[in-house]
Amino acid sequence: MPERTFTPDDLTGTGSVCGCLICRLDAVFARHLRALRTGYPGTVTMLGHRTAAPGTTAVPHFLTMQLGEVPADIVVWEEMRPDQLKAWLPQADARDRVPQLASRIPRLIRIRQAIRAGTFTPSGSAGAALASGDRYPSFRYLVQHWPTLTKEYTP
Ligand SMILES: [Zn+2]
Repeated sequence: MPERTFTPDDLTGTGSVCGCLICRLDAVFARHLRALRTGYPGTVTMLGHRTAAPGTTAVPHFLTMQLGEVPADIVVWEEMRPDQLKAWLPQADARDRVPQLASRIPRLIRIRQAIRAGTFTPSGSAGAALASGDRYPSFRYLVQHWPTLTKEYTP
């Protein structure tokens, strides 16, 4: 499915806990994730102003927001328990990469933007997944295909 692009209008009436931009973005993206996921154990929990609780993993998501002419990449964070992380990302090797990649947001965004701009087309299954239209450069895609992406992407 194609990536959803959000607009500032999506941020109104989110019912977020506090009225700040982070919480509004969290509320909008959590609603989006709940609608997309099937078989995810428990509820979608965004970090908001917290840090991840002990034993959980902070997972970034990229939210694309159209700001005038320009698509902007915004990062929101979800907290996942181990069983949730496993349901979301079944491949153990990809799961092991989550903390490392979560600390490399600027590079991930550059790769995302290069894919979006058409200046970088990864090979193999990473490229095929994008070409099929089934996938887009979400954090999950990036973490699953990281060995290929980091080898082939040269800014
Ligand atoms: Zn807030």
